[in-house]
Amino acid sequence: MISMKGVNKWYGDFHVLKDINLNIKKGEKVVICGPSGSGKSTTIRCLNHLEKFQEGTVSINGTDLIDDVKVVRHIRSQVGMVFQHFNLFPHLTVLENLLLAPIWVHKKPRHEAIKTAMEYLERVKIADQAHKFPNQLSGGQQQRVAIARCLCINPEIMLFDEPTSALDPEMVSEVLDVMVELADEGITMICVTHEMGFAKKVADRVIFMDAGQIIEENEPHEFFDNPQSDRLKMFLDQIL
Ligand code: ATP
Ligand code: MG
Repeated sequence: MISMKGVNKWYGDFHVLKDINLNIKKGEKVVICGPSGSGKSTTIRCLNHLEKFQEGTVSINGTDLIDDVKVVRHIRSQVGMVFQHFNLFPHLTVLENLLLAPIWVHKKPRHEAIKTAMEYLERVKIADQAHKFPNQLSGGQQQRVAIARCLCINPEIMLFDEPTSALDPEMVSEVLDVMVELADEGITMICVTHEMGFAKKVADRVIFMDAGQIIEENEPHEFFDNPQSDRLKMFLDQIL
């Protein structure tokens, strides 16, 4: 359902993505890891047109991602994204943050959008904070709001870009717990993270990137216990 074929991207002279080929099936959970600057964020941002690429094709559920407003809107209605720094609108309450896309993009009636939003806030265990502003919440709470906001568009695919790396350690697990629950419910997930416990528990496949390339991929057990390339061995030695 997600396919990247021969994707190459340059920032000026800098070749940031080198021939990325990736197929992800519906319901699959994929974790991407690798050193800083290896192109992990750029790769997943190419899946919802937050980044453009110069060569290759990306297709989501059979739609080729091209630089066209309607196509991009269609793709983004299926692909939600959660960022490291939450990206909530600070001047809107938690609930209003969740209502924006359903009301303005998807033209849902307000009362319906509120009902759905409250259900998702319930699910990430934060419904009691609905009328607060983001800066009145902890980092872990804000990230759960960001996840709930993403769920409000009912995406088939969720992209996570280091969703826990800006959090204080004691808040990491409350966010990971929500992500594990989502994974159990069958949503397709691509997650850039260095939380290897999460990868072992949830991932069907772990991908290692270095210097703009996919170096190695495997199911978690093999990936961690039997790394093939020296680069992955070195990386695992550093982080585990
Ligand atoms: P991190 O773990 O630090 O988040 P990453 O693997 O997500 O790293 P990317 O953010 O995808 O890496 O960046 C890949 C490379 O592209 C880096 O070398 C980065 O400096 C470079 N890069 C990213 N964005 C731009 C940009 N807008 N212009 C020029 N170079 C960029
Ligand atoms: Mg990144």
